[in-house]
Amino acid sequence: MTDAETLSRLRALLRQLRSSPWRLSFPDADERIFQADYNQRYQLHIQMAGLLGLITLLLPIPGNYWLTPQLYIPTLRVSVGSAILLMLSLAYSTSEHARPRQQVLILINTVVAYATTLLLAELQVAPLNDYYAVGSVLVIMGGFVVSRLLFSWGLLTAAALCVILASHLLRTHADIEMITIQCFVLCLALSFALPGTFLIERSLRMNHLQGRLLDLEQSDLRQAHLHLEILTATDGLTHIANRRSFDNALAQEWSRQMRSEMPLSLLMVDVDHFKSYNDRLGHPMGDECLRRIAEQLAAYAQRPGDLAARYGGEEFALILPGTAPEAALQIGEKLRLSIQTLAIAHPDQAYVSVSIGVATMIPLPGITAEQLVLRADEALYQAKSQGRDRVVTYRFNDAAEATPPPGHSPESR
Ligand code: GH3
Ligand code: MG
Ligand code: MG
Repeated sequence: MTDAETLSRLRALLRQLRSSPWRLSFPDADERIFQADYNQRYQLHIQMAGLLGLITLLLPIPGNYWLTPQLYIPTLRVSVGSAILLMLSLAYSTSEHARPRQQVLILINTVVAYATTLLLAELQVAPLNDYYAVGSVLVIMGGFVVSRLLFSWGLLTAAALCVILASHLLRTHADIEMITIQCFVLCLALSFALPGTFLIERSLRMNHLQGRLLDLEQSDLRQAHLHLEILTATDGLTHIANRRSFDNALAQEWSRQMRSEMPLSLLMVDVDHFKSYNDRLGHPMGDECLRRIAEQLAAYAQRPGDLAARYGGEEFALILPGTAPEAALQIGEKLRLSIQTLAIAHPDQAYVSVSIGVATMIPLPGITAEQLVLRADEALYQAKSQGRDRVVTYRFNDAAEATPPPGHSPESR
């Protein structure tokens, strides 16, 4: 499934969830992703709830000692026994193995903590036993709400608590007052806790879908940005670097070669008699010819830092960092021959040919890369005036505006 399809499916799911207030499920594959995400994201909440439960169990121990010292030992046994179970479950919940079993752990912990409050209420005398009965509300809120229990597991846990309470009341032959208080407290707590888990699960599901949508939209945006960057750097017709990339790359290589004091070579390539080719054969043929020439040129940009670009119209450029004049001339010659080998028929000559101007400089501070372009252009002009279909290297003695080129001892490629 493509990203776009996943996006529209997730949007549809979110709409469904919003429009049906009782919905608490996703299709199978999405449900699995939700459960895995839930287990990973809310592990900490579940442990927090366990920790709160532990504090609730241990906190009343000093109070029991002070208020009912005669019952201290039996109540201490129950509290500590339950605290040990809770601690074991907390330790287990930190393992990877426990992740998919978190709902079961919450159920067991809530049931154990609730049974503990019932036992303590049974052991204690009035009015402390009533306090313990009310304390079970805290247990239920912690188990259901703080731990982010899912609704279906909430129903299961509620049923388990009812069974525990019923068996406790039967076992202790509780009087009507105790039965009323305990049943009232449990019903009241569940009537808050269950709708709470329902609403929490709905918002967890919505957050989950929105999170996934956001991730996908961000990755879409990153891809669009990347695509745009490629588009702004590439020539639309020939798909090699455009003039903008050429200018950037040349400036970059100029500074790089200045730092390493290495030569920088530039080839300016111009298609011969291209106007008549276009005029006689039409623009579409002209475009195709430019594409084929660009393809050849690109094959000569082989090393990191090399760049084949369309300079403009039917003019191309090849940047060759770290390349000496002789090597650049050789590459120019090979390129010229390979374009001839394409054997693109030309109405005014046998085949389409190119003229190439080559210039090499070791960049020095105070001189810009423009100087290199001017020299390659000058050499190209020489190639044209000498009859086209040739490669000419810039020699400063021949150039009208020539000044001795800075750094003229380039190393070999
Ligand atoms: P020379 O040998 O001196 O370079 O002659 P030329 O005819 O190649 O040079 P000129 O500058 O007179 O003509 C360049 C032609 O290139 C003009 C234009 O029709 C053609 N051209 C420029 N850009 C494109 C393009 O994107 N597609 C097509 N098909 N033709 C183009
Ligand atoms: Mg031309
Ligand atoms: Mg031209």
